[in-house]
Amino acid sequence: MELSYILNELGEERENYFNAVSPPIIQTSNFTFKTIADFRQALENEFDAMLYSRGHNPTLNILRQKLAALDGAEDALVFSSGIAAISVPILALLKQGDHIVSVENPYSWTIKLFNEFLSKFGISTTFVDGSAVENIENAIQPNTRLIYLESPNTFSYELQDLQAVAQVAKAKNIITMTDNSYCSPLYQQPIKLGIDLVAQSATKYIGGHSDVVAGVLTGSKALISRIFNHEFMNIGASLSPHSAWLLIRGLRTLPLRLQRSFETTKVITAWLAQHPEVDRVIWPFMRGFKQAALAQQQMQGCGGLFSFTLKDTSVQKIENFCNKLQHILMAVSWGGHESLIIPSIAGFPEADFDKNNARHLLIRMYVGLEDADYLIKDLEQALSGKA
Ligand SMILES: *Cc1c(COP(=O)(O)O)cnc(C)c1O
Repeated sequence: MELSYILNELGEERENYFNAVSPPIIQTSNFTFKTIADFRQALENEFDAMLYSRGHNPTLNILRQKLAALDGAEDALVFSSGIAAISVPILALLKQGDHIVSVENPYSWTIKLFNEFLSKFGISTTFVDGSAVENIENAIQPNTRLIYLESPNTFSYELQDLQAVAQVAKAKNIITMTDNSYCSPLYQQPIKLGIDLVAQSATKYIGGHSDVVAGVLTGSKALISRIFNHEFMNIGASLSPHSAWLLIRGLRTLPLRLQRSFETTKVITAWLAQHPEVDRVIWPFMRGFKQAALAQQQMQGCGGLFSFTLKDTSVQKIENFCNKLQHILMAVSWGGHESLIIPSIAGFPEADFDKNNARHLLIRMYVGLEDADYLIKDLEQALSGKA
C-alpha cells in the first residue's frame, strides 16, 4: 500500500460524513441498536462491533487502520499513552511464573514495569546487552515467554538485530515485542522483520506537536483481538476521539516532519562533532557509530534524537551549558516541533554524579523543526564557556 494513500485516504469513508475532507470527531461514549439480535451480537463480540467507546469508536478506527498499514501489520490498537501500549499486551500475554528477556536500559517506565510491577505478580526479567544476539539467546530460560526490545535505545542508541532476534524467538515459540518510538513506522518496520508486536509512543512523532499523549500497538489480528478482549478492555486505557483526531492530523505531515528533523540532525551532529568543547556525538546514522552497518541495514532513516558529551566532564559545565540555552528547551519527551535538551544529570541528585559513568555524561538533544542555523547559534553561545 502506498504511503500517500495510507496517510490521505485509507479508512476515510467521506460519503458517510457529508464528504468532509477532515473526518468527524465522533464524541460519543455509546452506540445504539435497533434490535435485540444486533445488540446481542455486539455484546458477544465487541472486537467486531461498535458498542462502547472504551472499546472501539469510528474516529479511532480510522486511525487504527492507518497505523496498522504503516507498520505492515494486520491490526492495531491505540491507547491513552505509549506506556499503556507497552504494559497492556505484556499483562495480557504473560502469567505468574513467566520470564522476560529484555534489553538493558529500556524506557524508564518500562524498567519500572518489569522491576516493580510485574515482579509483584511473579513475572521475572533478565536484562541483557542486546547488541549481540547471543546475549539474548543465552538468557532464555525454559519459562521465557517474551523477548522485549527497543532499537535504537532513546538515550544511548544501542541497536538489536531485529530479524536475527525474531528467528531465535520463533524457533523457541517465544513472543517478540519492540518499542519502535525512535524510528516511527516510516524509518523501521519491525513486523516485516518477523517481530510479533510493535509498540510506540504516539506522543512523539505521530502526534508531532507536543499536545497529545497516546500509544500504538500493532501485530497480528489473532494477538490484537486477544489483547483487546481481555486486558485492553479491563485496564481501560482508551484514547479519546478528540486525541485520535489530533493523531490523524499529525499523520498527514509525518513524512515531512520526520525528513526535516532527519536532515537538520545531520547538520547539527556534524557541527557538534567538530566543536572543540564536544567529546562524543552518538547518533545511529553518524560515521563511526558502533553499529552503523546494522543501522543502515534495518533503518530507512534516523530520528532527530541523539546524545553527546562534553570534554569538560564536570557537572557544573553540563549545567552551565544547559542553563544558558535560549531557544532549545529543557524538557522531557521529544518528537514535536520544538527542539529539546535533557542531560542525564537532571535525572538524579547531584551527589550521585560519577564522571566515570559514561551514561551520566550524556546530554540528549532532540532536533525539532527549527532552522539548523538558529539551533547552532544557540548551541554555540551556550558552549562558549562564559558562565
Ligand atoms: C515516551 C516514550 C515511551 C512512553 O510513551 P508515553 O506516550 O509517554 O506513555 C515509551 N518508550 C519510549 C522510547 C519513549 O520515548
